[in-house]
Amino acid sequence: MYAEIIINSEALEIDRLFTYKVPYELMENIGVGFRVNVPFGQRNKPIEGFVFSLLQEDSIKLDYKVKEILKLCDDEAMLTVEDIQVIQFLRRKYLCKYIDAVRLMIPVGIMKGSKNKKKKVIVINKEVKEDELKKESYINLYNFIINNNGIYTKSEIVNDKEFSLYCLNKLIEKEILKVEEQVVFRYNTRRYDNDYNKLLTDEQRECLDTILNEAKLKYLIKGVTGSGKTEIYIRLVEEMLNQGKSSIVLVPEISLTPQMIERFKGRFGEDVALFHSKLSDGERFDEWYRIKEGKAKLVIGARSALFLPLQNLGLIIIDEEHENTYKSEHNPKYHTREVSEFICELKGCKLILGSATPSVESYYKALKDEYTLIEMHKRVNGKKMPHMQIVDMREELKNKNLSLFSRQLLNELENTLRDKKQVILFLNRRGYSTFISCRSCGYVFKCPECDVSMTYHKNGYLICHYCGRAEKVSKVCPECNSKYVKFFGAGTERVELEVKKYFPNAKVLRMDVDTTRHKNAHESIYNSFKSGEADILIGTQMVSKGLDFKNVTLVGVLAADMSLNMPDYRAAERTYQIITQVAGRAGRGEDEGKVIVQSYTPHHYSLKYAKEEDYESLFREEINIRRLMGNPPFGKILLILGSSKYEEKLVKFMYTLEGNLKKLVLEDFTMLGPVPCIITKLKDNYRWQIIIKGNFDDEFSEKVKDTLYLLNKSVYNEVRVSIDINPNNMT
Ligand code: ADP
Ligand code: ZN
Ligand code: ZN
Repeated sequence: MYAEIIINSEALEIDRLFTYKVPYELMENIGVGFRVNVPFGQRNKPIEGFVFSLLQEDSIKLDYKVKEILKLCDDEAMLTVEDIQVIQFLRRKYLCKYIDAVRLMIPVGIMKGSKNKKKKVIVINKEVKEDELKKESYINLYNFIINNNGIYTKSEIVNDKEFSLYCLNKLIEKEILKVEEQVVFRYNTRRYDNDYNKLLTDEQRECLDTILNEAKLKYLIKGVTGSGKTEIYIRLVEEMLNQGKSSIVLVPEISLTPQMIERFKGRFGEDVALFHSKLSDGERFDEWYRIKEGKAKLVIGARSALFLPLQNLGLIIIDEEHENTYKSEHNPKYHTREVSEFICELKGCKLILGSATPSVESYYKALKDEYTLIEMHKRVNGKKMPHMQIVDMREELKNKNLSLFSRQLLNELENTLRDKKQVILFLNRRGYSTFISCRSCGYVFKCPECDVSMTYHKNGYLICHYCGRAEKVSKVCPECNSKYVKFFGAGTERVELEVKKYFPNAKVLRMDVDTTRHKNAHESIYNSFKSGEADILIGTQMVSKGLDFKNVTLVGVLAADMSLNMPDYRAAERTYQIITQVAGRAGRGEDEGKVIVQSYTPHHYSLKYAKEEDYESLFREEINIRRLMGNPPFGKILLILGSSKYEEKLVKFMYTLEGNLKKLVLEDFTMLGPVPCIITKLKDNYRWQIIIKGNFDDEFSEKVKDTLYLLNKSVYNEVRVSIDINPNNMT
């Protein structure tokens, strides 16, 4: 018998399957997915690998002498046959290496060979009748162990539980009890308040029935914030547990969704596993084993939880499916939604996407019936969505108001603070990009070819990061001749200063990357705002998600333009999503909420539709532009990024690459670039990119990858390359 092996090594040349002979003594135990040791290279250094497939001797002809597998590393397989299929899918679709995909599925701790933490506990060895035990003290101890089988060590039983050591030893001697080494788990055992099942509303009931009764696998729940989607998720998971099936619940970022965890833990207790990037290697290891052994049948986690070894998977839920954290920015650069679809077809489990503002891609699929669309229009508590007002910042300028706050917002801030209510101020600044706009008329410098904002560079040029067009920055507005042409760039810190200037007595909290570096920072800011320790919460994207504060009645979006003018074809869609979401933070309690959105382009359709809660119109507008520009879902975008300490070499490399790629790129595809990236230099490395746009298949992208890597071989040490399909950001 032969085995095809994936070698556990980063090296690009090793990214293929290696054939090894299975020695006779391993034949009985080996299987697909086993971790093995194999001799590798000229010196036959032992190295780890994973069995990708097993082949019978007569099915292949080998014209070289194959080496033999040395040993199995574990007594069970680390990957299932289905995992191997997912690995193949990832490699083909996202152009990653085999080992990148394997590493998604097996936590570092296990790769590094860490061991379980174990302790010696007392367990029942054989069951006996009480009268066989005779003495009262034996019976008491025996009954205690029956109820706490395998939980306590000898010393815990004697010292903490105060049973006699003599009795314990006697029962062990009689082989009624025994000592056994067991794994101790290092997971979160914090207790949460019990949550209870609520009486479902008609909309919720209908939604649940549809999902449970229909044979179809994929569903999109489009439900306004507060329509009770989470409650539906909980019921679905419960139903799965009743059927003996497991579930994965994915959230955009686990630290931002404390309430979700609260509710699931409150309902399902310790059986909920948590999995996300902030776990330590040890915690990750334990959760992985707990799940693999079937001890936890429910996982809540960030995108990587999708790859956990749950048995008998019945359900995958992706909450806030439109969020961009579902796209991985490391190899494999997968999109969670796409992989979930693959897994759900592979395993026949259900996939539920939920959002108040679905991604254009998902809604498009729902309209084409690839997903079953379920809409929920009403908030559970019957409350209206908060009233939204869009403030024209150009008017403020005319009135000599140069502060970050419009008069309307200042007014509302004053009223809200006086009424002892809370405020969220939201600044949707992201990334490093800066665009130039006219504060008098709202004009934004855009690339006429690509319809995205051009980015300001310190050398005085505006550059389009799709096609490379460069223009000198003009000092006056081409539309209205005003001199208020400026680039945008306020941060949350400046907002905080200005708030303090106007409202010196208000207590302010700030939630952004700077204030949330350590592990539980989110939760502690969240808790202190919730308990009313502050009046105003200032934040970035982080404050837009999942937070449920009953006392917040005012939300201010300080500069809608910041996300509107991202150099990204999804800018309008994202603005709509962000504004809708952050608006949903207001008026969740008894009092009605108010939202003020400030903008220099107040008539932009994405603001208008957000105000009118008109997703359909937003979608129609967007889908037409996507079709026209050939952007997803009508075409793909393949981004090749090159970086190097040596600018000249990099530029030469990128142009040579362009030349080589030209032979591949068909007529109806477009190649844009090479151009410098938005972040032209990062950690001493220059960065350039090439974009290929078109309706191409996996085979084409594989050819691009091969061309790229072949050329890269010659300058491997000087130029680093990466490749990304439908990237999140134009880097
Ligand atoms: P969504 O996830 O759609 O934003 P949630 O599931 O979080 O909505 O529900 C919003 C609020 O309504 C939560 O506080 C939740 O506990 C409550 N809720 C949900 N369903 C019901 C119900 N059927 N009866 C009473 N309260 C409910
Ligand atoms: Zn102007
Ligand atoms: Zn352009």
